[in-house]
Formats: sequence, structure tokens, C-alpha cells
Amino acid sequence: MFDNYFITGVRAVASSSSELLDRLFVRRGDITRERVDAIVNAANPSLLGGGGVDGAIHRAAGPGLLEECRRLGGCRHGEARITGGHKLPSRHVIHTPGPVYKDGASGEHETLRSSYRNSLDLAMRHGLRSIAFPAISTGVYAYPPEEACEVAVKTVLNFMAETGYRIDVYFVLFDDTNFSTYSAYIGSLREKGNAPPADGGKR
Ligand code: ADP
Repeated sequence: MFDNYFITGVRAVASSSSELLDRLFVRRGDITRERVDAIVNAANPSLLGGGGVDGAIHRAAGPGLLEECRRLGGCRHGEARITGGHKLPSRHVIHTPGPVYKDGASGEHETLRSSYRNSLDLAMRHGLRSIAFPAISTGVYAYPPEEACEVAVKTVLNFMAETGYRIDVYFVLFDDTNFSTYSAYIGSLREKGNAPPADGGKR
């Protein structure tokens, strides 16, 4: 176990890497089937439904979700709102519009990070123990899957390390590209985390 686990590019954290990595699960499938405390919806700012995962969530949740969303009055990119799960097996839905990817130099990284952080912050404030994320922004919003995966996983790990909050996090991937990207990336972090320290263990 590493006492100093640095995740470059986001923020350095001091925690046991394997303890945090044990909270992450990668699944292939349809997020609307997940029986967790909250599933996250890659929404659009109107919160009134759309295509992709948003459409699937609204179809599975039924019209009560749209009614509840109407009362929220929208949500900016990177922010998050929580509703009930209605007919879904999950108790709640956390709605967050991720960034629309333009050129990678227009604040997309920060906005994507905010979507994950604000979703987790809501989960923490509601005392949730499990959450399922889709690959936010990698559909119609066109964020490159590998970069989006790195932001997602690093942000989740850093959030837990910084706050001390612990939650089981399911990354539920609908397509082959995202599923293999997440599996490989989290697998590589686990390998690093389980490798013997280069200095022979003196830390
Ligand atoms: P965005 O506008 O944030 O890009 P999309 O819904 O277009 O949102 O796509 C986000 C991701 O959600 C994509 O990787 C897409 O494959 C995935 N997706 C679509 N339907 C589902 C579903 N039912 N469960 C999980 N992920 C889904």
C-alpha cells in the first residue's frame, strides 16, 4: 500500500491507493438497470430530457421524473441537481450536464471535473453509499473517451481522498470503447498500486 499516492494533473492526495481503488467497479451495460442509491444522468442544461443516456433514464423513470425536473429550472454545464428515481431501481437520479467538447482548450477538462465533483458532493450531502456514472460527455458532447475516462477516475479518487467520504462507484459503460478504456485504465492503476514500492518499501 502506498501512503503517498499522487494523481498528477488533478491534485496530489495522500491516502491508500488500494483502499480507494477497491471502491471502483467497472460494468458494461444499461445504467437504468442499476440498483444503487443514485445513477448519474449526463443531462442537457434544460433538464427536460434528450437523447442518449438522458432519454433512456427518462423512459425508464416515467413521466414523474420529467415533472420533478421541470421544477428545477435547468442546470448549467458542470453543475448537478438531485431528484428521486421514480420508476427506476435506483433511489435517486443526479443530473449533470457535462461539457460540450470543442478543442480541448476551452475549459472542457474543468467542466467535466466539476460534473463529477458536484455529483459526488450531492451524494455526500445526501449520505448516499453507492453511485453509478455513465461516461459523461462521451456521446453527443463528443469528449474523447480516453481523456474523459482519466478525468472521471482521477476526480472520483481525489474526491474520496480529500473529503474522507467513501462511496461505492460504478462506472457503467454502454459501448465497447468506453468499457475497454475504463477496464484498462483502472486495471493499470491497480497494477501500480499493488506493485512493490521502488524504494523497497521505505516511505
Ligand atoms: P453526452 O451528451 O454527455 O455526451 P450521451 O447520452 O450522448 O451524453 O452519451 C454519454 C454516454 O452515455 C455515451 O458514452 C453513451 O454511449 C452512454 N450511454 C447511452 N445510453 C446509455 C445507457 N442506457 N446506460 C449507460 N450509458 C449510456
